[in-house]
Amino acid sequence: EEKKKEEDEGEKTLRSPICCIMGHVDTGKTKLLDCIRRTNVQEGEAGGITQQIGATYIPAENIRERTKELKADAVLNVPGLLVIDTPGHESFKNLRSRGSGLCDIAILVVDIMHGLEPQTIESLNLLRMRNTEFIVALNKVDRLYGWKTCKNAPIGKAMKLQSKDVQLEFEHRTTQIIIEFKEQGINTELYNKNKDRGETYSIVPTSAISGEGIPEMLLLLVQWAQKTMIEKLTYSSDIQCTVLEVKVIEGLGTTIDVVLVNGVLHEGDAIVVCGYQGRIHTTIRSLLTPHPMKELRVKGAYIHHKEIKAAQGIKITARNLEHAVAGTALYVVGPDDDVEEIKESVMDDMRNVMSRIDKSGEGVYVQASTLGSLEALLEFLKTPAVNIPVSGIGIGPVHKKDVMKASVMLEKRKEYATILAFDVKVTPEARDLADDLGVKIFISDIIYHLFDQFKAYIDNLKEEKKKEAAEDAVFPCVLKIMPNCVFNKKDPIILGVDVLEGILKIGTPICIPQREFIDIGRISSIENNHKPVDVAKKGQKCWDLLRTHIFPRTRELPQFPISPKPLFLSKTDFGTLQNITGSNAEEQQKMFGRHFEMEDELVSHISRNSIDILKANYRDELSNE
Ligand code: GDP
Repeated sequence: EEKKKEEDEGEKTLRSPICCIMGHVDTGKTKLLDCIRRTNVQEGEAGGITQQIGATYIPAENIRERTKELKADAVLNVPGLLVIDTPGHESFKNLRSRGSGLCDIAILVVDIMHGLEPQTIESLNLLRMRNTEFIVALNKVDRLYGWKTCKNAPIGKAMKLQSKDVQLEFEHRTTQIIIEFKEQGINTELYNKNKDRGETYSIVPTSAISGEGIPEMLLLLVQWAQKTMIEKLTYSSDIQCTVLEVKVIEGLGTTIDVVLVNGVLHEGDAIVVCGYQGRIHTTIRSLLTPHPMKELRVKGAYIHHKEIKAAQGIKITARNLEHAVAGTALYVVGPDDDVEEIKESVMDDMRNVMSRIDKSGEGVYVQASTLGSLEALLEFLKTPAVNIPVSGIGIGPVHKKDVMKASVMLEKRKEYATILAFDVKVTPEARDLADDLGVKIFISDIIYHLFDQFKAYIDNLKEEKKKEAAEDAVFPCVLKIMPNCVFNKKDPIILGVDVLEGILKIGTPICIPQREFIDIGRISSIENNHKPVDVAKKGQKCWDLLRTHIFPRTRELPQFPISPKPLFLSKTDFGTLQNITGSNAEEQQKMFGRHFEMEDELVSHISRNSIDILKANYRDELSNE
């Protein structure tokens, strides 16, 4: 009696917490969702579970029924739990409400066989950023070798029925995963050992296939939410509502799917939503939820509502919704509200995102499905490890106009004439235009894959540029001729040298500063210890080991072997050196003993241009010195 009364009062004042399922791909998010909203045949009409737009509503009644074996004697003050239907952290990002997360609580799914994976960590970071409470579902316990299935049983009970081996493997894996969480700076503990909730997150072992652990998971979610978020969950007449998706529905035109977090919506309410081309001021024509008989696939099988109270997933039809931006807040204009003020705040989210565009006007173009995902992508691109500037943004499919906008960069910086398309389609016309103009488009529904693709592209461009620049790149070096190491005075000059400073490379033009910078030729080959090498660095001065072959300055460096006729064969070392032919003979050849002497330093002939090229392309190969 007492308990029932308490609960009735709760239902009057609290709204349902909104829950979202996150985690790495294939950990079982979809299966877990199916499991939570499973139609229990014996209970007839799914125990009151109702399908909503974009979400599933699980009434407290259903949760009580499914957790009664736990004997928790739970007082459930919330009317139920609203679970968002699209699992994954992308959807979590899109679920924003007035700048903060829309979800009250999340289930972070981890595969017990795999532990923490890249998207688990991405999800974790998001949860931390939004300050969202969560519990960990350690899923796929049924994969432990020798697991005995106990359909839909509490995990506590199921675990007791397992063999020692299964229990040991379970403990081992769980301990490992707790350590992995710790490495991410997160304290976790098995739910039944967790004495420090709030500081330490609870882990519930589950199987989305056979249903073990689902009772504990549901109970923990609801209890934790109603214990720690009373204020947030208190029902209020202030409308809090977020646009999840903008969809064209046959017979209804453009509709918006929303989650009503708090307050009541009525047919005929004046609303303001954010649009690409400015705010949209319109009137709710109808409030719709799916028909329970939707299996029949009756067209237009929606239930119309005069009014709907939070928390609920709803489809709204109204005029002028074509340009509505998914992931933004919906505002209702009440009789006493200042329309102008609301109109201002409605564009806040959009302005916020716009402000992240690079002020220099140079950067890539990014396109995402919703404002939330766009924001997430921009956030990611801003991180120091990534640091890709953005010059333009778009939401929705990539159209020709987006390609046009991106192509502006072709003249400024070719590598930025790129569209990073996150979770959106590219129209065939846009694709054709991009190919024609030379605009690159990278598509992925995983943020870091976009980055990988773009990075590979940039690296490739850099490599190409480097090759183009190689001809003009001159690495600084200073050489000293070693005594008794003038092996050939000219054609080619062959000297043993000591690299006093810098890096000696094939192709480097050499001049003599003491003699008015006279150019004596380019390095055509280097030998170290009788072996040809491409570079020699400072300090490599083994007596008589480093020999440079300097050919007259020519455009084309001689490639060995060029001619079968040997120019020069020394006693031992230069058996492979062969003649170069033709053109360079015309240039006056410089000679040791006439144009320069033993005591002259040989220095690479750098220029302003060659320095700029080094800076632009070879920064990573050079020391500050
Ligand atoms: P999602 O990518 O996280 O949504 O993962 P899914 O729900 O699609 O599941 C991925 C695969 O794992 C599917 O083949 C599921 O059948 C399987 N799976 C999910 N949960 C469990 C579980 O608890 N136990 C076992 N054995 N398999 C599971």
